[in-house]
Amino acid sequence: MTHKTCAACDCRIEGDSIKVTVGGETVDVCCDDCARALNEAHAPATTPAAAERSGA
Ligand SMILES: [Zn+2]
Repeated sequence: MTHKTCAACDCRIEGDSIKVTVGGETVDVCCDDCARALNEAHAPATTPAAAERSGA
């Protein structure tokens, strides 16, 4: 059994999956929307400058 599940919505992927690289790891998602959602969820702060400030 090699069913894949969508890394974003957790539904089962049958047939073609979409591979998306998040944080250096390749995961499978069921659709383009999920790919985008994952990318946004795992993206670093949209404002790196702000993160730097809080870190310093
Ligand atoms: Zn999905």
